[in-house]
Amino acid sequence: MKTSVRNNLGKLLAKTLIKSGVVKRAAQRVQRGEYILSLCFHAPSKAFFESCIDWLSKNGFHFISVCEIERIINKEKAFPNGAVVITIDDGWQSNLDNIVPVAVQNEVPVAIFVSTEVVEKGSGYWWSYIMEARKMGLSKESVEFFKTLDNEDRIKIIEETKSKIQIKREALTIDQVREISKNKYFAIGSHSVSHPILPRCSNTESKYEIEHSKEIIEEWIGKDVKHFAFPNGDYSNREISFLKRFGYTLAFSTEQKYLTKEKLAHRYCLPRFMMVEGASFEENICRIVGVWPLKPKKRKIVYP
Ligand SMILES: [Zn+2]
Repeated sequence: MKTSVRNNLGKLLAKTLIKSGVVKRAAQRVQRGEYILSLCFHAPSKAFFESCIDWLSKNGFHFISVCEIERIINKEKAFPNGAVVITIDDGWQSNLDNIVPVAVQNEVPVAIFVSTEVVEKGSGYWWSYIMEARKMGLSKESVEFFKTLDNEDRIKIIEETKSKIQIKREALTIDQVREISKNKYFAIGSHSVSHPILPRCSNTESKYEIEHSKEIIEEWIGKDVKHFAFPNGDYSNREISFLKRFGYTLAFSTEQKYLTKEKLAHRYCLPRFMMVEGASFEENICRIVGVWPLKPKKRKIVYP
């Protein structure tokens, strides 16, 4: 089925579910239960992000920050009902116009996890080069294939590809990250240096990605960076050891689950629902409150 046809069908079904009250009842179940809704966006449109925030507000959710999550873990704050935490991965340039004003206007705390190299270099993210190379017929390999390679091999091919393809800046600039970090609704966390698949890295590479990204962001914003989001959600015990060693206090994975007390007991692999930004906001709402019957597995969207 074509992605657009599938998405339109999905939107129609989701609208029906929302109208029927099934979604509202499911949302109330989330609020009664001891869950925190944990969401991850990447580069949503302003309309998509606004619709999600608006729906969550109107349906009785309240927004808490990642720092509050840490306080709940540390038992300095009671476990809330009906709370939602908003995280953003990668640090896309479009976040500046599509997320910042919406969060400020609605007083929503947001954590942005940035990968430092692409911010510094002003290039595209590595997977953008692969997708562009495929479009241009220069390569047949998929982004998913590259995620299976040893880090060194992946870098080698990406560098070759970069020499043939120009992609304009996709990430925020250092000044923009610094400016956003001054806003009381925003916190900046680390999403590594080069956004590798950490378990495919050598010990030296993994250590560098976790340690150096923290140092760099702290230098940019003049504040401690204690929170991490695993690129592509991938990690092993080694990465958790590095996080502890270098002073991180929690980390997010991409496990699509609610944050429960049980999940909070594992502070270095906190789950999040990945918002499917190529699908309708209605479909995403159905999915995060647990009434979505369709699986988004064949979507032509990459969520590193
Ligand atoms: Zn990412």
